[in-house]
Amino acid sequence: MNERHFVLITGNVCNNHCIFCPNGDDKRDCKLNHETLIRIIDESKSNHDFITLSGGEVTIRDDFLDICQHAHDINYGIIVQTNARKLADPSLCLRLVEQGEKIYHVSFHSHVEAVHDHLTRRSGSLEQVRTAIRNLRNLNQKVITNTVIAKQNYADLKGTVNSIFDMGVTHIQLAAMHPIGNANRNAGEVLPSFSEIYPYVRKAVDLSAQRGGKILLEAFPYCVCQGMYEHVAEPHIPKMNVRNMEQELNGFKKYRLEGKSKMKKCVDCCFNQICEGPWKEYIDFYGEEEFNPITDIESDEVFK
Ligand code: SF4
Repeated sequence: MNERHFVLITGNVCNNHCIFCPNGDDKRDCKLNHETLIRIIDESKSNHDFITLSGGEVTIRDDFLDICQHAHDINYGIIVQTNARKLADPSLCLRLVEQGEKIYHVSFHSHVEAVHDHLTRRSGSLEQVRTAIRNLRNLNQKVITNTVIAKQNYADLKGTVNSIFDMGVTHIQLAAMHPIGNANRNAGEVLPSFSEIYPYVRKAVDLSAQRGGKILLEAFPYCVCQGMYEHVAEPHIPKMNVRNMEQELNGFKKYRLEGKSKMKKCVDCCFNQICEGPWKEYIDFYGEEEFNPITDIESDEVFK
């Protein structure tokens, strides 16, 4: 947790077209050029130990391997945030591993092909992700998956989590959708309520305990995940700075807090000091009724 993390958004160009992508379609062509990226990586190094290379989809850049090599050369620890479709190519995985170890944050939205491929709007994308995870695991690379919870996948989150563990992944994140960009435009089709998903998230969390894995819940206020408080992701997220295409944000936590909303009733909640609240746009869509202050437990009892 003391390591210093830098997240570099290299562009919005992507080979998926996810229904819930937080980037709007209007910005899909934007990307930083190679020289600018190298300069940013160099300038950021004195204040950071780890760099997350993100997109859009960073692996489809022509200079992806060169960027990774440069980051290794200046002793950055590297995290690649990816939909992993390109990593279905074993020779690319091998070249990446020959450069040095990395951690791969892989999007995996369902173990059911029709569901995953519908959400990514790319036929064959699930099969490619499965192949990529196998490639990376065969090369002893650490893989962490991220599943965005949607109306289409929540009813069998347990099946998805089981399938991910079966591939040798031990660290899973389930994310509450951020309803901006495409997710906002398609909210009626894809955005589930916390009340709808709760029993299914609970089953997935219980399964991960049975299988000895780690599961975190991103962007979940505490009051909508009763009995799973220790799985809320935000206290586990290290301090990080984020550089998008326009500017360096003052910090990922500040960015999150600006996008989220607390309610008047939160003052009565024992988690008020540590809870970030739901995304603002979620309240626009579903209102405040699901969020009720927790008064029967102290937050430090959860995190002792
Ligand atoms: S009532 Fe407010 S502070 Fe408490 S957990 Fe819910 S959103 Fe967070």
